[in-house]
Amino acid sequence: MTHPVQPPPGEALPRDIAARKDFIREKVSADVASGRFGRPVHTRFPPEPNGFLHIGHAKSICLNFGIAREFAGRCNLRFDDTNPATEDLRYVDAIREDVRWLGFAWDEERFASDYFERLYEIAEAMVREGKAYVDSDREERIRAARGTVIEPGTPSPFRDRTAGENLELLRRMRAGEFPDGAHVLRARIDMAHPNMLMRDPLLLRIRHAEHYRRGAEWCVYPLYDFAHGLSDAFEGITHSLCTLEFKDNRDLYDWLVHEAGFARPPEQTEFARLELDYTVLSKRKLLRLVNEGHVAGWDDPRMPTIAGLRRRGVTPEAIRAFADTIGVARSDARIELATLEHAVRDDLNMRVPRVMVVARPLKLVITNYPEERVETLDAPLYPHDVPLTGSRPVPFSRELWIERDDFLEQPPKKFFRLSQGREVRLRYGYLVTCTGVVKDAAGEIVEVHATYDPATRGGDAPDGRRVQGTIHWVSARHALDCELRLYDRLFARADPDDVPEGQDFVAALNPNSLVTARGAKAEPSVAAAPPGSRYQFERTGYFMSDPIDSRPDALVFNRTVALRDSWARLKDR
Ligand code: ATP
Ligand code: MG
Repeated sequence: MTHPVQPPPGEALPRDIAARKDFIREKVSADVASGRFGRPVHTRFPPEPNGFLHIGHAKSICLNFGIAREFAGRCNLRFDDTNPATEDLRYVDAIREDVRWLGFAWDEERFASDYFERLYEIAEAMVREGKAYVDSDREERIRAARGTVIEPGTPSPFRDRTAGENLELLRRMRAGEFPDGAHVLRARIDMAHPNMLMRDPLLLRIRHAEHYRRGAEWCVYPLYDFAHGLSDAFEGITHSLCTLEFKDNRDLYDWLVHEAGFARPPEQTEFARLELDYTVLSKRKLLRLVNEGHVAGWDDPRMPTIAGLRRRGVTPEAIRAFADTIGVARSDARIELATLEHAVRDDLNMRVPRVMVVARPLKLVITNYPEERVETLDAPLYPHDVPLTGSRPVPFSRELWIERDDFLEQPPKKFFRLSQGREVRLRYGYLVTCTGVVKDAAGEIVEVHATYDPATRGGDAPDGRRVQGTIHWVSARHALDCELRLYDRLFARADPDDVPEGQDFVAALNPNSLVTARGAKAEPSVAAAPPGSRYQFERTGYFMSDPIDSRPDALVFNRTVALRDSWARLKDR
């Protein structure tokens, strides 16, 4: 049996771009108006392929691709792959997939590693002009001689080499004549510059290593600052958007693109990095979680990676809406996890069908319902104010599964679910009144007994009597066994780095971030659901069948998000 349960595939973008306004868009607007660059707006998203993208990257992606789209410009996807030690083709593929899945298409795909030749030529030109020199000190000594914020640095003993000497050494570095660390190329700027990054920064260093794209072809590798701004300039980028920790790098960025002779060079603008409560957003830390086995992989549904969020059931639309909500600011602020969850619920609420699944089953026997009878109820898939229609057949019979939590022997005052003598509504079914329980030898309740009122089919009493509680259920004879993976926040602390002296963020992991409910019972309509189908399980939460582990005979559902913020509810009590 099939029914229209699938959300529409990633719809067209974006919803109301006109409404977006922030300091970056204002700046871009002004630049477009003044014709400052003499070319269309051109942005780029420049990840290093050393891990999977996370939701912080999604913020940057939405910003860069969003601005290009809004200003009829272009956006490049550039792999910032100048470090041979950590980069890998597997990450390049994952990044491409994630950007596409988020709903964006890049105009050009570029690799910083394709610029090694060009960067090297610029290095030679700088040497010839006396703007760079080969330093033969060790890197630690160079670092130590940089001075401090209040004291100027000390010039290197190699600073005054002639252009000829420098050129010869640089060529021999490039030819592979020296071991790692023997020499570096430095810009000759100012050892007393107030910005420490301008005190003769390193441009190239020797690394005899295998690069995932260039192999062993190169043994001099550009440092971040040398590669980054110039890559932007090579591509004709106009607005180079990056996070605030690169603010001090801007002087060097400007110096380099100027020295390399670019007219109308790109301009760097910094914005706040996304930091999310109960999460870490750093590839280095996420890599540790993967390598040390704290999670099942980069796409573990608890991970804040795009791949993890996707596998958990979050939609690209929800991530884009989240990025819109948080906006772009000039100073860092942590965002509450509830903001993301709200965006997820908001999106799913509008398009996923509702079905009934019992997580912790308890048998309910309707003693006055005929043994062999089965009724088929017609239940709407979208019962609320959603512009979608459709229904599915739901079998009803004498024995049902209900949630263990929906029955209490000694109920507190405001418990409106099932207890001895109480009447409740079985969603879409009948009103039933509890008549007793059956216990096993250990005193554990194994069955709840009830009688139904045949006049209440559909859930309303003809005499108008009021029933407070409505519970969900599944016909025992027709139920499908399934596994529910109930995910919770990965860390127990809002700021996972806020741990006692001598510990690190790993100590802040939430030991209950995954609770597996095996033996859950699902209504039969979900049998045909292909992996990756999304639902709201009534009264429980939003779920998606696991795209990898779920099979028709062994369904597995990941909880994307609970219906309400259960933590907020706990606080209210
Ligand atoms: P990480 O520390 O996770 O490795 P990164 O900055 O080193 O992050 P890159 O691959 O270099 O990762 O980042 C690509 C782009 O994404 C950069 O422009 C960077 O500024 C941006 N970015 C990375 N993390 C965030 C974040 N948390 N919020 C917003 N933008 C981010
Ligand atoms: Mg980086």
